[in-house]
Amino acid sequence: MENILNNPDELRKVRAALLNILEDTDDLRRSAVDERNKTTAIIENLTDGVILLNRKKQIEIINSSAVDLFSLDKKTAAGMCFLDLVNRDNANQFRSILIDEDKKRIKSTYREGATAINDLHFEITSVLLKDNEEEKGFLIIFHDVTKEKLIEKMKTEFVSVAAHQLRTPLSAIKWTIQMILDGDSGEINEEQRDLLGKTYLSNERMIVLINDLLNVSRIEEGRLLYNQEISQLEDIVEEIINSSGELIKIKKMNVDYKKPEKLLPKVKVDKEKMGVVIQNLLENAIKYTPESGNIKITIESDNKNVIFKIKDSGVGIPKNQQDRIFTKFFRAENVTRMETDGTGLGLYTTKNIVQAHKGEIWFESEENKGTAFYFTLPINK
Ligand code: ADP
Repeated sequence: MENILNNPDELRKVRAALLNILEDTDDLRRSAVDERNKTTAIIENLTDGVILLNRKKQIEIINSSAVDLFSLDKKTAAGMCFLDLVNRDNANQFRSILIDEDKKRIKSTYREGATAINDLHFEITSVLLKDNEEEKGFLIIFHDVTKEKLIEKMKTEFVSVAAHQLRTPLSAIKWTIQMILDGDSGEINEEQRDLLGKTYLSNERMIVLINDLLNVSRIEEGRLLYNQEISQLEDIVEEIINSSGELIKIKKMNVDYKKPEKLLPKVKVDKEKMGVVIQNLLENAIKYTPESGNIKITIESDNKNVIFKIKDSGVGIPKNQQDRIFTKFFRAENVTRMETDGTGLGLYTTKNIVQAHKGEIWFESEENKGTAFYFTLPINK
C-alpha cells in the first residue's frame, strides 16, 4: 500500500476531514454550553428554592432563592453536606420533613407540610435521582406558599365571623316562630301553621349549615377544642339513635342496633363531638337510603380499638368519586341528582374529629347496593 504521507492529495483530504470533525465537535460543545447556561439561568431565576445534591449528599447546585432561604452565600453552600445544612438553627424545621432519622437518609416527599421559617410557609418536594437503578443524588424544591396560606387564613376568618354574625338573628327567628306556633301571640289557622312550620324547618337547615361552617373554620384554625372524658361508646350511640327517632319514623327505616351483650372497653372521647360524628353518619345513612330501607349499626372491639360500623342499603357512592368523599363541600353526583339537601361538610368534620381522637375512618360502598362506614377509637388503657 502506498504511504499516505507521500500523497499530497490524500493528505489534503484527510486534513479537510479532520477540520470538519473539529468544527462539528466545536459546534456540539458550544450548543452543550448554551444548553447548560440556559438550564442554569432557569434554575437560578426560579422563585422556588432548588438544591441539587450529589450521591454523597453534597450540594452540587443551589439557586439564589435557596441561598437566601438558608441565609447562606453561594461559596459557603457549594459542596456543603446537606445534613450540615439542615442542622443549622434556621433550618431544623426542614429536618423532620427531609431526613429519616432512623435510617439517617434523605426522604423522598411530595409537597409535604408547609413549614414556617421567619413566618414563611413552604411546600417541600424531594426526588431521588436515579440512573439505571443507581442513585445519582437528590433534587430538593422549596415552594413558597406563604401568600396562599395567608389567603386561606383570611378566608377561614371571614367564614368564622360571618357565621357567628348570622347565628344570632337565626336563633331569634327560630324562637319567634316557635312562640307563634305555640299560640303565644294568639290563635293561628291551619294554613298559617303549615307555612310557619315550613319556615321553621328552612331556618333550622340554615342553623345546621352555619354550625357546620363554624365547625369547619374551628378545625382549620386548630380551635376545635376537645373535652375528653372516659366514656362508653355504646351510651353515645344509643342517645343519638333515640334523638333521631322522629326522622327514622318519618322515613320508615328499619334500624337494627343491638347493644353489645358485654360492656365494651372504655374510650377517651369528647362526648359532644363524638355525638356529632355518629349523628352525621346516621343522618347520611337515613338521607341516602330510600324509604323503608335497612340500617345496621354494630360496635365491637379488638385488643386495641373499639370499632363502630354503620351499614345501609342505600344509593351508594359512585366508584369514581369515592376518593373525594371526605373533602370539604364534596357531594357525589348521584345524591345531588336526588335533590337531598346537604352541605358536603359533614364527613369532612367527622373525619377530623375521629382523627383528633387518634382513630381512623373509612368506608366500603357499591352504587345502588349500599354503604358501610367504619371508624375506630383506641381503647383507653
Ligand atoms: P352532605 O350529606 O351534607 O352532602 P357529607 O359530608 O355528610 O355531606 O357527605 C358527603 C357526601 O358523601 C354526600 O353528599 C354523599 O354524596 C356521600 N355520602 C355520605 N354518606 C353516604 C351514604 N351513607 N350513602 C351514600 N352516599 C353517602
